[in-house]
Amino acid sequence: MAVTQQAKTAKAPAVEPSEEETSDVGNPAGDQPAGAREIASLTPMMRQYLELKALHPDTVLFFRLGDFYEMFFEDAIRASELLQITLTARAKGADKVPMCGVPYHSARRYIARLVEHGLKVAVCEQVEAPGNGPGIVRREVTRVITPGMVLDEEVLEPQASNFLAALCWNDQGFGAALLEASTGEFLSLEAATLSEVVEGLSRVDPRELLVPEGKRESPEVTQVCQRLSRMPAVAEGEAASFEPTRASAFLRTHFAVQSLSAFGLDGAPLATGAAGAALRYLKDTQKTPAAHVDRLSRVERSGQLLMDESSRGNLEVLKSLRDGGRRGSLLGVLDRTATGLGARKLARWLAAPLSSLPEIHARLDSVEELSQRGVWREELTGILKEVGDLERLCGRLSLGAGNARDLRALGLSLLQLPRLEGALARCQSGLLKSLSGPLGALPELASLLARAVADEPPVTLKDGGLIRPGFHAELDKLVALSTSGKDVLLQIEQRERERTGIGSLKVRFNKVFGYYLEVTKSNLHLVPEDYFRKQTTVGSERFVTPELKEYEEQVLTAEERRGVLELQLFEELRAQVVAAAPRIRSAAEAVATADALLSFARCAAEYGYARPEVDTSEGMVITGGRHPVVERMLGAGESFVPNDIRLDPEDAQLLVITGPNMAGKSTVMRQVALTALMAQAGSFVPAKAARIGLCDRIFTRVGAADNLARGQSTFMVEMTETSHILHHATRRSLIILDEIGRGTSTFDGLSIAWAVAEHLHDKVGARTLFATHYHELVDLARERPRVKNLCVAVKEQGGKVIFLRKLVAGGASRSYGIEVAKLAGLPPEVVTRARELLQNLESGELDEAGRPRVAVRQPPARRAAPPAGAATGQLGLFGTEPTPVAAAPAVNPMHQKVVEALQAAAIERMTPLDALNLLAKLQRDLG
Ligand code: ATP
Repeated sequence: MAVTQQAKTAKAPAVEPSEEETSDVGNPAGDQPAGAREIASLTPMMRQYLELKALHPDTVLFFRLGDFYEMFFEDAIRASELLQITLTARAKGADKVPMCGVPYHSARRYIARLVEHGLKVAVCEQVEAPGNGPGIVRREVTRVITPGMVLDEEVLEPQASNFLAALCWNDQGFGAALLEASTGEFLSLEAATLSEVVEGLSRVDPRELLVPEGKRESPEVTQVCQRLSRMPAVAEGEAASFEPTRASAFLRTHFAVQSLSAFGLDGAPLATGAAGAALRYLKDTQKTPAAHVDRLSRVERSGQLLMDESSRGNLEVLKSLRDGGRRGSLLGVLDRTATGLGARKLARWLAAPLSSLPEIHARLDSVEELSQRGVWREELTGILKEVGDLERLCGRLSLGAGNARDLRALGLSLLQLPRLEGALARCQSGLLKSLSGPLGALPELASLLARAVADEPPVTLKDGGLIRPGFHAELDKLVALSTSGKDVLLQIEQRERERTGIGSLKVRFNKVFGYYLEVTKSNLHLVPEDYFRKQTTVGSERFVTPELKEYEEQVLTAEERRGVLELQLFEELRAQVVAAAPRIRSAAEAVATADALLSFARCAAEYGYARPEVDTSEGMVITGGRHPVVERMLGAGESFVPNDIRLDPEDAQLLVITGPNMAGKSTVMRQVALTALMAQAGSFVPAKAARIGLCDRIFTRVGAADNLARGQSTFMVEMTETSHILHHATRRSLIILDEIGRGTSTFDGLSIAWAVAEHLHDKVGARTLFATHYHELVDLARERPRVKNLCVAVKEQGGKVIFLRKLVAGGASRSYGIEVAKLAGLPPEVVTRARELLQNLESGELDEAGRPRVAVRQPPARRAAPPAGAATGQLGLFGTEPTPVAAAPAVNPMHQKVVEALQAAAIERMTPLDALNLLAKLQRDLG
């Protein structure tokens, strides 16, 4: 829905010059927005705006004016379009400045939308109260929100991490750092090649890429951006902040350590540079000491099952290929977590599964235990649902951006931890048991927050209502004074009436005298000595007492003092949270792990998964395997047909899978890869039983996709991916090849597919599943001992194909592509013609002249009658009539190629050596 926000001319504070007021002072800011220079004269406020804008030229500046944030010049034009708010103008005539604005209380929503468009927003606040000094109110940019530097829950997706990636490189390799501003998670990595660094970055799908100044357009940045599944926004940081020596000093100061060796950064200058730059960017944009960033881990490639971005994408591990959403992806099926923390953890586990057996077994033990305990699962889920996003709450509060609602949510969450601790402590599995430790470390903070923070505090900090009644005696008194002053006055009035016996005595207030006691003339003789006369009126006298004076003093300042005291108490509580941040983060880690394990256990129990045996063998046996996503997507009445797969380095290393279109080849291959991935992530698997020999990498080459942005055609992408696999696969890898060589001519494609399969068999030895429609590849099994043929069975019944979805030994001889095309609704005449052409092809691919026979038409009698009015002499592909058959011998295509090469040779321009080389080549070609 389009939001139309009528931009208002903000009311400037009383002491600020009005917007119409002009100044003779010329252009103060060197780097002004276009249009600013033409303005004949500037108000002091516009000068202030331009000065701030010059400091943050690459942002949309939200300039606080009273209750609005205003934008000017190009910012206003761009924002009004993106936010669909009205563009107005400030001042008139030649000095007209484009302007739009949003109310401050709903600014988060608008900021979120601009950041989603990849823009940066600088928030400029009034940093002093109006009237505190001469001239206009002082304003400062208090933080810059960028796509990778987001703290606001309205912008952040609860289940997704929001990483900034910093990247630098030299001729030795690449260094990268990954920083999640909202949680403080901080990782670094070094990589020898661009592919490796992309692999590392792609695990967290960064929103923003920070690169050294001047490098935005470099080929390295362009390639990294293109290879990531989601194009990040690119920002440039000061080149010096990437410089390793400076970065190291900066990081050591931040972490208060003498050396970075504990963070694994010894001898890693590029990772150090990137980490330094990332942290500086956080501090600079958020204007904070970033105390919640209290650790930095080096990501090592060993210890993880590696997968490049295209393999992860092809397998739809985190996102579906259809629309990039979670639905239809493996994560979409396996994510049964109860918290955002757990969902993010699960996504990370699936993006980077393990390769260490003890760790895998530890997770599997936990999943097994929980999968067998339905009651425990329900109980744990119930507790976890009550736990908020500890990581992000703690992050926001540590960065000074949190409010009392965050404190309240943190307090409520912490109160749940002892219950979770108890529930986990009774588990047998070592990993689950170990999680209970960090959960018991915060009872004091939990009870402090429960006692201190109000039940429903407001979003802002300045309006009071943050602290719970009964927590602080002085505050209670001030609250009573400011909110229940009337009652106190009535009490005083009542008491004084009783003490003096003056029934008509009244407590009153006026601006000149403040509070006073009013006594009618007839009662003056009853006035006690401690009353001081203030004023005489026609029928009465007005008195004050020391008590009333003191009360007046208190009441008049109570509201202000209450605000100050509440803020002070809030800050004290926030400081306690910051002090406890490392413990909160350990607890958050434990919650996330428990939630992710519980999610695996729920899937195991509810979807009928089995515990895989993961070992160091180089084989893989899956019995009754299913595709975890496809089986969940089938409609009512459809059931998934399980299949068995056996890969063995001795006799079944490479499986050639043939079968008709739509039979289920891709499905079965992907399910093998997903089963291995799930097992190594510590999950149970969709199978009756599975034994998975540990994989070091999973590669997939699937389907036809071009990458025009990267300047690569469909076939080029296919070959690049294939080449990557051949260069990087090892005996421990698992390779899924779904069609190789389809993007080029049949002969070229078949030759490439054959050679690739041979290479994988002879040289690489990796477990490979190779689906193909080149049925000729089936012959490979006769030549190579570890190649086995499988095909997906179909049945022909009454001219129709029935898909059995069952893998059986042997190769298929037909693709039934035309039947599938018919199912897809191709017009009947096209289907008929295709059948006819197929027959031609099957009866001999080339005619006697070496031309494809495909064009030959069947005699009219054998063809279906053409529709009325249709031309009877339909054109063939290569001519109107079949070429008369001459009694000539069949032409060898290679001979034909040699003849063509000779005809094309420009002999007159050749040197003798060129001619000799050509002759030698032609001889070679002829074999
Ligand atoms: P093509 O050669 O045209 O690419 P394919 O042989 O790779 O086809 P798939 O894409 O794997 O076929 O499967 C087609 C559809 O069949 C799937 O989308 C799925 O809905 C269904 N399917 C595949 N395998 C099974 C199975 N084992 N049980 C039930 N349905 C299945």
